[in-house]
Amino acid sequence: AREMVNSASGHPACVTVLLPVAVDQPFTYSVPATHMPPAPGTFVRVPFRKSETVGVVWGVPDAAANLPVSKLKSLGEVLTLPPLAPPLRRLVDWTAHYTLTPLGVALKLAMPTPEVLKTDKPPRAFPLPDPDHAPPQLGDGQAEAFRAVAARPDGFQPFLLDGVTGSGKTEVYFEAVAAALRQGRQALILLPEIALSAQMLTRFANRFGVPPALWHSALTPALRRDTWRAIADGAIRVVIGARSALFLPFAQLGLIVVDEEHDGSYKQEEGVIYNARDLAVVRAREEGIPLVLASATPSLESLMNVEAGRYHRLHLPDRHAGARYPEVAVIDMRKEKLPAGKWLSQPLQQAVRATLERGEQALLFLNRRGYAPLTLCRTCGHRWQCPQCTAWLVAHRRQQQLQCHHCGFHDGWPVACPACAATDSLTPCGPGVERLAEEAAALFPDARLAQVSSDSMASRTAAETLIHQITSGEVNLLVGTQIVAKGYHFPGLTLVGVVDADMGLSGGDLRAAEKTWQMLHQVAGRAGRADKPGRVYLQTFQPDHPVMQTLRRDDRPAFIRQQILERQPAHWPPFGRLVAVIVSAADEGEAQTAAGTLGRAWREVPEVILLGPAPAPLFRLQGRYRFRFLLKASRRVAVQEVLRGWLGGVRVPASVRVQVDVDPYGFM
Ligand code: ADP
Ligand code: ZN
Repeated sequence: AREMVNSASGHPACVTVLLPVAVDQPFTYSVPATHMPPAPGTFVRVPFRKSETVGVVWGVPDAAANLPVSKLKSLGEVLTLPPLAPPLRRLVDWTAHYTLTPLGVALKLAMPTPEVLKTDKPPRAFPLPDPDHAPPQLGDGQAEAFRAVAARPDGFQPFLLDGVTGSGKTEVYFEAVAAALRQGRQALILLPEIALSAQMLTRFANRFGVPPALWHSALTPALRRDTWRAIADGAIRVVIGARSALFLPFAQLGLIVVDEEHDGSYKQEEGVIYNARDLAVVRAREEGIPLVLASATPSLESLMNVEAGRYHRLHLPDRHAGARYPEVAVIDMRKEKLPAGKWLSQPLQQAVRATLERGEQALLFLNRRGYAPLTLCRTCGHRWQCPQCTAWLVAHRRQQQLQCHHCGFHDGWPVACPACAATDSLTPCGPGVERLAEEAAALFPDARLAQVSSDSMASRTAAETLIHQITSGEVNLLVGTQIVAKGYHFPGLTLVGVVDADMGLSGGDLRAAEKTWQMLHQVAGRAGRADKPGRVYLQTFQPDHPVMQTLRRDDRPAFIRQQILERQPAHWPPFGRLVAVIVSAADEGEAQTAAGTLGRAWREVPEVILLGPAPAPLFRLQGRYRFRFLLKASRRVAVQEVLRGWLGGVRVPASVRVQVDVDPYGFM
């Protein structure tokens, strides 16, 4: 091979630069003879496709590549941004490889936004959190857990902080954050987006004297720019963020916390399909730092990682200050004869009444937004369906709309049936929180009722007003979706009524029982967090279902054993690997043909089973027809290589999209 060396300085004459485009490899550029080649990680401007773009120096070209240096395009301006550090570059590499995403697309996750690139203005100053501002007196179990984390500041070690709701997990990881701060390190706390609540921010401010820096999708461009810069400069010490914060360019990261580690919203389902909880483990490993996964209902994956010795479990068995797990009663709905269109059983009604009379608060929980999940015409039976999806339109009475909860399509409230033109013929079918609130208002006319859903908490001010009304006791009856279950603490709430505990148990999701248990346990944990004991009622048609029994007896070990027995023999995750491959196109025939071609191209691989193609449960989504494969493999198999071998050998038309979802969490 020819030597590519600048005669003047003796350094290599070219570098490779990764660009945030859909290409799997960095491009090679020559370095002007007058310049030193920039180090890997440096942000540079380069000519690309008749224009200019910003990329990251990734390395030097292979010596064997035999490049015609004189024909290469030349590197442009070297930006003054701090370079992307090796651990973050390795995370990008790992993400691309694991999720089968082109490397350049994975880079986008770590690229600064255009605002960062546009200006050299120094960012605004951020206040420094003080680790010694208001340290709490930790309980014995808390102190032990904290010491375990703080004892390992210089090395990769995942911890599973496993403790019931209210056991003081937040206090423990705040102390671990304080310890990182005292060492001059930065810390990242990941939360499910929905839990980035004002209450959490207040708690942080009480502990550390200043509010934390936030990272989520709703930041203004200016704040995004300043936050990104200050994290890279080390001026921001603690970030609380949603999943995308995992790719921020921390200068001296010392700790990552993933709160509610079991939460499905860590799974990003669009663009690069990744699970931020799992990537947090990779980042911690690449940084060589401890990681705390916290949950009251850990995922089976994490529990098995504890079993295997990969994670160290820290257990907080007791609620702080002695509050107990609420008493859980199951209401057998097969025996309750409710009138059509009514959902609240007699025992639950009585419990609500008694709670309100004692001056306490009650929550009626139903995880369904809107008024009714289906609307039909009484005259002709017409059902309102989304024009783009295989889904019924959900009636939202307050907004006077019919909405699709899959694609966001919405339409005005119909005056007449489009099929038979009958007027006043609309019939709602099934319950939503709006309809449940209507029923509750009629049953408890003196209650001060509030509806809590992502619709009523859409803006920050609306959410804060509502939370204030609840904590101050201005409101005493809540009717809400899962948004009430996450990240809030309502001291006066002593009764939780789950209206439809079976919802979510049906359907083809291998985690249906696990997810339902996690959600209902969390909702149950809202009851009786302060000095008054709590009570929970579960309305169910399957009172003997393991989920109901587990909640009633608070017997997690039995539930976990049952889940293992169910999944292990057939190698379902976490005992085997799954990959979903979705083939979609606007034209049904095209999608079907492409799926067939892919199916025929499959070659048997030992310890791998390919299921499909089959129409996906959500057959049409946003106007695209979808066929699905499910690849099931033993944990010993490198599924990425198998997928590359299979998918790489097939050409599909540009109008067909082939989406790979490694470790799928949803099965629609
Ligand atoms: P979790 O995160 O496990 O749900 P939290 O950390 O939110 O539990 O703690 C529950 C409640 O107990 C909170 O109101 C918290 O302020 C309080 N608490 C927890 N630990 C302590 C402590 N060591 N001293 C005083 N209050 C505490
Ligand atoms: Zn739709």
